[in-house]
Amino acid sequence: MTTAAIEGFAPAKVNLTLHVTGQRADGYHLLDSLVMFADVGDRVTVARAEQMSLTVTGPRAAGVPEDARNLCWKAAEAFGAPVAITLDKHLPAAAGIGGGSSDAAAVLRAMEELFGRPSGVDPLTLGADVPVCLLGRAARMQGIGGAVTPLDMPSLRAILVNPGVEVSTPAVFKALARRDNAPMPAVPDAAAQARDVLDWLAQQRNDLEPPAAALRPEIGQVLRALSSLDGARLVRMSGSGATCFALFDPDSPTDGMARDLQAAFPQWWVAETMLS
Ligand code: ATP
Repeated sequence: MTTAAIEGFAPAKVNLTLHVTGQRADGYHLLDSLVMFADVGDRVTVARAEQMSLTVTGPRAAGVPEDARNLCWKAAEAFGAPVAITLDKHLPAAAGIGGGSSDAAAVLRAMEELFGRPSGVDPLTLGADVPVCLLGRAARMQGIGGAVTPLDMPSLRAILVNPGVEVSTPAVFKALARRDNAPMPAVPDAAAQARDVLDWLAQQRNDLEPPAAALRPEIGQVLRALSSLDGARLVRMSGSGATCFALFDPDSPTDGMARDLQAAFPQWWVAETMLS
Protein backbone atom coordinates (compact mmCIF):
# COMPACT_ATOMS: atom_id res chain seq x y z
CA MET A 1 0.00 0.00 0.00
CA THR A 2 1.35 3.45 -0.84
CA THR A 3 0.30 6.48 1.12
CA ALA A 4 0.56 9.86 -0.49
CA ALA A 5 2.85 12.38 1.14
CA ILE A 6 1.08 15.31 2.76
CA GLU A 7 2.29 18.84 2.09
CA GLY A 8 1.87 21.73 4.50
CA PHE A 9 2.61 25.45 4.57
CA ALA A 10 4.43 27.01 7.54
CA PRO A 11 3.81 30.76 7.35
CA ALA A 12 6.00 33.37 9.01
CA LYS A 13 4.56 34.52 12.35
CA VAL A 14 4.69 38.25 12.99
CA ASN A 15 4.31 39.73 16.48
CA LEU A 16 2.63 43.07 15.73
CA THR A 17 2.91 43.78 19.45
CA LEU A 18 4.83 41.98 22.17
CA HIS A 19 4.31 43.15 25.73
CA VAL A 20 6.35 41.35 28.39
CA THR A 21 4.16 41.51 31.50
CA GLY A 22 5.99 39.38 34.04
CA GLN A 23 8.15 36.38 34.80
CA ARG A 24 7.12 33.20 36.60
CA ALA A 25 9.17 31.68 39.39
CA ASP A 26 10.27 28.94 36.96
CA GLY A 27 11.80 31.58 34.65
CA TYR A 28 9.16 31.58 31.87
CA HIS A 29 8.14 35.06 30.75
CA LEU A 30 4.52 36.17 30.61
CA LEU A 31 3.59 37.71 27.28
CA ASP A 32 0.71 39.61 25.74
CA SER A 33 1.06 39.68 21.96
CA LEU A 34 -1.02 40.28 18.85
CA VAL A 35 0.12 37.80 16.23
CA MET A 36 -0.67 37.61 12.51
CA PHE A 37 0.63 35.34 9.75
CA ALA A 38 2.30 36.18 6.44
CA ASP A 39 1.80 34.60 3.04
CA VAL A 40 5.52 33.79 2.88
CA GLY A 41 6.85 30.74 4.69
CA ASP A 42 8.41 27.28 4.65
CA ARG A 43 6.90 24.10 3.18
CA VAL A 44 6.90 20.69 4.78
CA THR A 45 6.24 17.35 3.13
CA VAL A 46 5.54 14.38 5.41
CA ALA A 47 5.24 10.70 4.46
CA ARG A 48 4.94 7.47 6.45
CA ALA A 49 8.33 5.74 6.88
CA GLU A 50 10.07 2.87 8.68
CA GLN A 51 12.25 5.32 10.59
CA MET A 52 12.46 9.06 11.18
CA SER A 53 14.33 11.15 8.65
CA LEU A 54 14.56 14.86 7.84
CA THR A 55 15.96 16.55 4.75
CA VAL A 56 16.22 20.33 4.65
CA THR A 57 16.22 21.98 1.22
CA GLY A 58 15.56 25.46 -0.15
CA PRO A 59 17.20 28.89 -0.14
CA ARG A 60 17.52 29.14 3.68
CA ALA A 61 18.57 25.52 4.39
CA ALA A 62 22.15 26.35 5.41
CA GLY A 63 22.77 25.73 9.10
CA VAL A 64 19.32 24.30 9.86
CA PRO A 65 19.72 21.01 11.79
CA GLU A 66 18.57 17.81 10.04
CA ASP A 67 18.25 15.76 13.22
CA ALA A 68 16.39 15.64 16.55
CA ARG A 69 17.41 19.26 17.29
CA ASN A 70 14.98 20.40 14.60
CA LEU A 71 11.50 21.30 15.89
CA CYS A 72 9.96 19.36 12.96
CA TRP A 73 11.61 16.21 14.24
CA LYS A 74 10.54 16.94 17.83
CA ALA A 75 6.94 17.46 16.66
CA ALA A 76 6.91 14.12 14.82
CA GLU A 77 8.39 12.34 17.83
CA ALA A 78 5.74 13.87 20.07
CA PHE A 79 3.06 12.66 17.63
CA GLY A 80 4.54 9.19 18.05
CA ALA A 81 5.04 7.82 14.56
CA PRO A 82 8.13 7.64 12.31
CA VAL A 83 7.89 9.81 9.20
CA ALA A 84 10.12 11.08 6.41
CA ILE A 85 10.03 14.88 6.46
CA THR A 86 11.26 17.27 3.81
CA LEU A 87 11.53 20.87 4.99
CA ASP A 88 11.77 23.44 2.20
CA LYS A 89 13.25 26.37 4.11
CA HIS A 90 12.49 29.92 2.95
CA LEU A 91 12.39 31.80 6.27
CA PRO A 92 15.56 32.99 8.01
CA ALA A 93 16.28 31.06 11.24
CA ALA A 94 16.53 32.57 14.73
CA ALA A 95 14.79 35.59 13.25
CA GLY A 96 11.78 36.32 15.49
CA ILE A 97 9.27 35.09 12.92
CA GLY A 98 8.81 31.67 14.45
CA GLY A 99 10.28 29.62 11.61
CA GLY A 100 10.90 26.51 13.67
CA SER A 101 7.60 26.84 15.56
CA SER A 102 5.58 27.23 12.38
CA ASP A 103 7.40 24.24 10.84
CA ALA A 104 6.55 22.14 13.91
CA ALA A 105 2.89 23.17 13.71
CA ALA A 106 2.80 22.30 9.98
CA VAL A 107 4.25 18.83 10.73
CA LEU A 108 1.60 18.20 13.41
CA ARG A 109 -1.20 19.25 11.02
CA ALA A 110 0.22 17.10 8.19
CA MET A 111 0.58 14.07 10.48
CA GLU A 112 -3.01 14.43 11.71
CA GLU A 113 -4.12 14.21 8.08
CA LEU A 114 -1.69 11.40 7.22
CA PHE A 115 -2.65 9.19 10.16
CA GLY A 116 -6.26 10.29 10.44
CA ARG A 117 -6.13 11.02 14.14
CA PRO A 118 -5.64 14.05 16.42
CA SER A 119 -2.02 14.56 17.44
CA GLY A 120 -2.77 14.50 21.17
CA VAL A 121 0.30 16.73 21.57
CA ASP A 122 0.24 19.76 23.88
CA PRO A 123 1.84 22.25 21.44
CA LEU A 124 3.19 24.36 24.32
CA THR A 125 5.62 21.53 25.16
CA LEU A 126 7.28 22.20 21.77
CA GLY A 127 7.68 25.95 22.37
CA ALA A 128 5.86 29.14 23.35
CA ASP A 129 5.01 30.01 19.73
CA VAL A 130 3.76 26.57 18.67
CA PRO A 131 0.17 26.95 20.00
CA VAL A 132 -0.43 30.17 18.04
CA CYS A 133 1.28 28.66 14.97
CA LEU A 134 -1.04 25.65 15.20
CA LEU A 135 -3.99 28.04 15.04
CA GLY A 136 -2.29 29.77 12.09
CA ARG A 137 -4.44 32.89 12.01
CA ALA A 138 -4.63 36.29 13.74
CA ALA A 139 -4.72 35.84 17.49
CA ARG A 140 -3.91 37.31 20.86
CA MET A 141 -1.34 35.19 22.66
CA GLN A 142 -1.04 35.45 26.44
CA GLY A 143 0.53 33.75 29.44
CA ILE A 144 3.59 31.73 28.47
CA GLY A 145 2.11 31.15 24.99
CA GLY A 146 -0.62 28.64 25.81
CA ALA A 147 -3.54 31.08 25.96
CA VAL A 148 -4.44 31.81 22.34
CA THR A 149 -7.59 33.77 21.43
CA PRO A 150 -8.47 33.96 17.70
CA LEU A 151 -9.15 37.49 16.42
CA ASP A 152 -11.01 38.81 13.40
CA MET A 153 -8.57 41.27 11.87
CA PRO A 154 -8.48 43.02 8.51
CA SER A 155 -5.59 41.91 6.28
CA LEU A 156 -2.59 44.22 6.58
CA ARG A 157 -0.02 45.01 3.90
CA ALA A 158 3.55 44.62 5.18
CA ILE A 159 7.19 44.53 4.19
CA LEU A 160 9.37 42.24 6.33
CA VAL A 161 13.14 42.69 6.56
CA ASN A 162 15.78 40.59 8.27
CA PRO A 163 19.34 41.94 8.27
CA GLY A 164 20.90 38.47 8.23
CA VAL A 165 22.11 38.43 11.84
CA GLU A 166 20.77 35.73 14.14
CA VAL A 167 19.47 36.86 17.53
CA SER A 168 19.43 34.56 20.54
CA THR A 169 16.00 34.80 22.24
CA PRO A 170 17.42 34.03 25.76
CA ALA A 171 20.08 36.76 25.32
CA VAL A 172 17.40 39.34 24.45
CA PHE A 173 15.23 38.40 27.46
CA LYS A 174 18.34 38.59 29.67
CA ALA A 175 19.04 42.13 28.47
CA LEU A 176 15.44 43.26 29.08
CA ALA A 177 15.40 46.10 31.68
CA ARG A 178 11.87 45.52 33.10
CA ARG A 179 9.74 42.41 33.09
CA ASP A 180 6.58 43.91 34.63
CA ASN A 181 5.38 46.05 31.73
CA ALA A 182 1.76 46.98 31.07
CA PRO A 183 -0.39 44.45 29.17
CA MET A 184 -2.20 45.35 25.95
CA PRO A 185 -5.52 47.17 26.31
CA ALA A 186 -8.60 45.61 24.68
CA VAL A 187 -7.83 44.70 21.07
CA PRO A 188 -9.80 46.29 18.17
CA ASP A 189 -13.17 44.63 17.61
CA ALA A 190 -14.06 42.54 14.58
CA ALA A 191 -15.57 45.52 12.73
CA ALA A 192 -12.36 47.60 12.90
CA GLN A 193 -10.97 48.84 9.59
CA ALA A 194 -7.27 48.51 8.73
CA ARG A 195 -6.68 52.21 9.47
CA ASP A 196 -8.17 51.91 12.99
CA VAL A 197 -6.07 48.83 13.64
CA LEU A 198 -2.93 50.68 12.49
CA ASP A 199 -3.75 53.60 14.85
CA TRP A 200 -4.28 51.17 17.72
CA LEU A 201 -1.10 49.24 16.97
CA ALA A 202 0.92 52.47 16.98
CA GLN A 203 0.02 52.89 20.68
CA GLN A 204 1.41 49.43 21.54
CA ARG A 205 4.99 48.13 21.88
CA ASN A 206 7.46 45.35 21.41
CA ASP A 207 9.24 45.36 24.77
CA LEU A 208 12.02 43.22 23.31
CA GLU A 209 12.92 45.80 20.64
CA PRO A 210 15.16 48.08 22.80
CA PRO A 211 17.27 45.23 24.28
CA ALA A 212 17.54 43.45 20.89
CA ALA A 213 18.55 46.69 19.13
CA ALA A 214 21.18 47.28 21.83
CA LEU A 215 22.64 43.83 21.15
CA ARG A 216 22.42 44.12 17.34
CA PRO A 217 22.94 47.59 15.79
CA GLU A 218 21.73 46.17 12.45
CA ILE A 219 18.18 46.25 13.88
CA GLY A 220 18.32 50.05 14.15
CA GLN A 221 19.53 50.22 10.56
CA VAL A 222 16.58 48.10 9.38
CA LEU A 223 14.07 50.16 11.40
CA ARG A 224 15.43 53.37 9.86
CA ALA A 225 15.31 51.97 6.32
CA LEU A 226 11.70 50.80 6.79
CA SER A 227 10.67 54.15 8.37
CA SER A 228 11.91 55.98 5.28
CA LEU A 229 9.52 54.09 2.96
CA ASP A 230 6.67 56.20 1.56
CA GLY A 231 3.39 55.37 3.31
CA ALA A 232 4.93 53.31 6.14
CA ARG A 233 2.44 53.79 8.98
CA LEU A 234 4.12 51.66 11.62
CA VAL A 235 7.61 50.17 11.91
CA ARG A 236 8.50 47.64 14.60
CA MET A 237 10.50 44.50 15.37
CA SER A 238 8.86 41.04 15.53
CA GLY A 239 9.47 38.58 18.38
CA SER A 240 12.99 38.77 19.74
CA GLY A 241 14.28 39.98 16.36
CA ALA A 242 16.05 40.66 14.24
CA THR A 243 13.20 40.69 11.66
CA CYS A 244 11.36 44.02 11.52
CA PHE A 245 8.25 45.04 9.60
CA ALA A 246 6.60 48.11 8.12
CA LEU A 247 2.80 48.25 7.86
CA PHE A 248 1.04 50.28 5.16
CA ASP A 249 -2.44 51.63 4.58
CA PRO A 250 -4.40 49.10 2.50
CA ASP A 251 -4.57 51.43 -0.52
CA SER A 252 -1.03 52.77 -0.19
CA PRO A 253 1.04 51.56 -3.18
CA THR A 254 4.13 49.57 -2.19
CA ASP A 255 5.02 48.53 -5.75
CA GLY A 256 8.75 48.10 -6.20
CA MET A 257 9.64 49.09 -2.60
CA ALA A 258 10.70 45.61 -1.56
CA ARG A 259 12.67 45.17 -4.78
CA ASP A 260 14.47 48.50 -4.29
CA LEU A 261 15.26 47.69 -0.66
CA GLN A 262 16.64 44.30 -1.67
CA ALA A 263 18.80 45.94 -4.37
CA ALA A 264 20.14 48.50 -1.87
CA PHE A 265 20.86 45.84 0.78
CA PRO A 266 21.59 42.56 -1.04
CA GLN A 267 22.53 40.79 2.22
CA TRP A 268 19.09 41.44 3.75
CA TRP A 269 16.07 39.12 3.49
CA VAL A 270 13.17 41.22 2.22
CA ALA A 271 9.58 40.05 1.70
CA GLU A 272 6.45 41.95 0.71
CA THR A 273 3.41 40.20 2.13
CA MET A 274 -0.19 40.40 3.33
CA LEU A 275 -0.71 39.55 7.00
CA SER A 276 -3.90 37.79 8.04
P1 ATP B 1 10.89 32.97 17.44
O1 ATP B 1 10.03 33.81 16.57
O2 ATP B 1 10.11 32.02 18.28
O3 ATP B 1 11.92 33.76 18.18
P2 ATP B 1 12.97 32.16 15.74
O4 ATP B 1 12.66 32.60 14.35
O5 ATP B 1 13.90 33.01 16.52
O6 ATP B 1 11.63 31.96 16.48
P3 ATP B 1 13.75 29.55 14.79
O7 ATP B 1 13.67 29.96 13.36
O8 ATP B 1 12.84 28.50 15.27
O9 ATP B 1 13.63 30.76 15.80
O10 ATP B 1 15.27 29.13 15.02
C1 ATP B 1 15.91 29.10 16.29
C2 ATP B 1 17.01 28.02 16.29
O11 ATP B 1 16.37 26.75 16.34
C3 ATP B 1 17.88 28.01 15.05
O12 ATP B 1 19.09 28.64 15.30
C4 ATP B 1 18.05 26.53 14.69
O13 ATP B 1 19.32 26.05 15.04
C5 ATP B 1 17.03 25.79 15.51
N1 ATP B 1 15.96 25.13 14.73
C6 ATP B 1 15.26 24.06 15.13
N2 ATP B 1 14.33 23.73 14.25
C7 ATP B 1 14.38 24.62 13.25
C8 ATP B 1 13.65 24.79 12.05
N3 ATP B 1 12.66 23.95 11.69
N4 ATP B 1 13.96 25.84 11.28
C9 ATP B 1 14.95 26.69 11.63
N5 ATP B 1 15.69 26.55 12.74
C10 ATP B 1 15.42 25.53 13.55
